[in-house]
Amino acid sequence: MAIFTKNQQEIATTIESESQLSHWLDWKWQVKHAIKSIEQFELLTGIQFSDKERKALQETIDHFPLSITPYYLSLIDKDNYQNDPIFKQAFADTRELHISKDEMKDPLAEDHDSPVPGITHRYPDRVLFLVSNVCAMYCRHCTRKRKVGDADNIPSKSQIQLGLDYIKNTPQIRDVLLSGGDPFLLSDNYLDWILTELRAIPHVQVIRIGTRTPVVLPYRITENLISVLKKHHPIWINTHFNHVKELTDSSRKALTMLADAGIPLGNQSVLLAGVNDCPRIMKELVQRLVKNRVRPYYMYQCDLSEGLSHFRTPVGKGIEIIEKFNWSH
Ligand code: SF4
Repeated sequence: MAIFTKNQQEIATTIESESQLSHWLDWKWQVKHAIKSIEQFELLTGIQFSDKERKALQETIDHFPLSITPYYLSLIDKDNYQNDPIFKQAFADTRELHISKDEMKDPLAEDHDSPVPGITHRYPDRVLFLVSNVCAMYCRHCTRKRKVGDADNIPSKSQIQLGLDYIKNTPQIRDVLLSGGDPFLLSDNYLDWILTELRAIPHVQVIRIGTRTPVVLPYRITENLISVLKKHHPIWINTHFNHVKELTDSSRKALTMLADAGIPLGNQSVLLAGVNDCPRIMKELVQRLVKNRVRPYYMYQCDLSEGLSHFRTPVGKGIEIIEKFNWSH
């Protein structure tokens, strides 16, 4: 039985007066009604900004768009939003406009190692394949801010075909990581087409998919999507939980459906100042992930992408957290 909290009910009916529980659980409804403006955010949360703040925030989202699913918005603690890990990941911060001297547009040099648009081929036997540049929510700490959310940069079918041709013509590639943007923002049919094409390439052994939908849009994990994924095994999925508050009943249900479909699940967390840079929070997160059949796979330092210095933690913080995982209680 899905949990539909009072807060969710209020958000849903403010968005659409006749809103039903079935609408809330429909991932396309969630995407269609994603919060993209400061005014809409204020209306749905009751949080108010001054004119000066609103102007500076608008400048920030002109630079990197705002998009928050109603579901993820409903997890924000409105009474203490300044300290809330959900708010900090989802809502714009004017410090994003500050670019420090060490920051770069493409700190991982993904574009440099790109033989065809959308493919990064750095290690001989594997490629990163960017098949989408949209996400349900634009995480403020995104490492691919340079591409994600840019309406002029949506990979076309012919671009994806070029990527497939490159993989087909490069026999040493045995592992393909689909990423974006979020591949699960594509329709089931389109995803099925990409996976079918990849599976027809004899040397492709493993397909991995990076998606944040179990965190920000858990209703995207539908029975139909599961049946598409199951046709193309072995499929591996990496998701991106950063805080235990994100492990709701809905996200746990999505993880259960994926794990029950025989898909090995991994999680990549990014250390974010004021969100999860604390041994107690990270320990609780990794333990709860394991309990939900998700292997804590990576804990990243925040990349040197532009405008993220307010999120970045010292390297020593990551080491301290890992060391403290050894506590016996
Ligand atoms: S889901 Fe991933 S790619 Fe999309 S905005 Fe968040 S971090 Fe970036």
